[in-house]
Amino acid sequence: MYLKADLHIHSVLSPCGGLDMSPAAIVKKALEKKMDIIALADHNSAGNLKALEDAALEKIALFFGLEIQSASETHLLTLFGNREKAEAMGDFLYSYLPDIPNNPEYFGDQVVVDAEDRIIKMEDKLLLQSVEMEMEEIIEEVHGRGGVVLFSHIDRDSYSVISQLGFIPSDSKIDGIEISRHLSLEQARKKYARYGHWPFVTNSDAHLLEDVGCAFTTYKMQTPSFEEFRMALQGREGRGVCYDA
Ligand SMILES: [Zn+2]
Ligand SMILES: [Zn+2]
Repeated sequence: MYLKADLHIHSVLSPCGGLDMSPAAIVKKALEKKMDIIALADHNSAGNLKALEDAALEKIALFFGLEIQSASETHLLTLFGNREKAEAMGDFLYSYLPDIPNNPEYFGDQVVVDAEDRIIKMEDKLLLQSVEMEMEEIIEEVHGRGGVVLFSHIDRDSYSVISQLGFIPSDSKIDGIEISRHLSLEQARKKYARYGHWPFVTNSDAHLLEDVGCAFTTYKMQTPSFEEFRMALQGREGRGVCYDA
């Protein structure tokens, strides 16, 4: 089957995320946009994944993400097959996050909510900053916990591996490359042909509700499971990313 997935969405927990970006509203919008699988990937935090799981019930398939900012200010889209693993990664990461308070007037609030949009708490530590871990350390940690890692929005001129290093190291253990919504996968595969041995995917990176599902990738998978997704990234046994969809 062919499944549409938008696996990089920010919620109200991301200081730059819109205040209407509650997990419940995101699920509703994703269903309207006919997505089959979605993932939240807030900056350096898994705090709203429980609300996402509660809001989604069985209506849409979920993966569980965090967008981690490495010491070199590179964004890494990390995804897990279940909430507990993503939350454990979030807990682990928290101690690597410098103890700098959020400034809500400058960055916006960082809100943890439940599935009914009730505020549970405000996260006081600034999430939109680098963790004290290098890219390769993060990749190794996520793999050790059963997750996958993609370089976020490599075509963007900030917080991407190419903006920070100028290139993607050939020995990187990454599972794939994400292209921002500003470039089609077809254009990106030409522009970045030298990285063509990695799978290319795209996602909305939505910070506003209307942007949920505005970019997505179609995967050929047998079921909307995380193991099938991993096989699709690896192009194994007939699974894969559909570049012409
Ligand atoms: Zn990013
Ligand atoms: Zn993002």
